[in-house]
Amino acid sequence: MEKLKLRFYPDNILKQKTKPVKEIDQEIRKLIEGMKKIMKENNGVGLAANQVGVDLSLFIAEDKNKILTFINPKIIKLEGEKITLDEGCLSLPKIFGYIKRYPLVVIEYLDIWGKKRKLKAKGLLAQIIQHEIDHLEGKLFIEKADKIFKIEEIDKESLEKQQ
Ligand SMILES: [Zn+2]
Repeated sequence: MEKLKLRFYPDNILKQKTKPVKEIDQEIRKLIEGMKKIMKENNGVGLAANQVGVDLSLFIAEDKNKILTFINPKIIKLEGEKITLDEGCLSLPKIFGYIKRYPLVVIEYLDIWGKKRKLKAKGLLAQIIQHEIDHLEGKLFIEKADKIFKIEEIDKESLEKQQ
């Protein structure tokens, strides 16, 4: 596997639906370790394989100081009334948006040992899961966001408020 590198918008790999992982072997576990490193270096809370240039359906997400791995994930239930949340993305530095997400999500996936698992997530983890699943589908949050702005604009806005 070539060296992993964070991919930025408008890189084509971010616009493509990813392929299922066929076999969870050493190569896949190495990929996951590399992704964890990149996510930490960039202070992220979630990262999809296509964000590091690998066309495979898997992502990692931080939850209570632990990093969870989701291979071939599938959302089986979205629950509750959508809420508006702030969101950002490592592939879109300095861009934030307001986006509506479900507060609860049930996801089915394989863990790094190939065991089928099911997880019900809420709060930030539910948001991360929806964001990362979108990545695996080739979708970026800016396509769904109600409002997008650059960090410079936020700084300016908050400055104005302070004055
Ligand atoms: Zn993202």
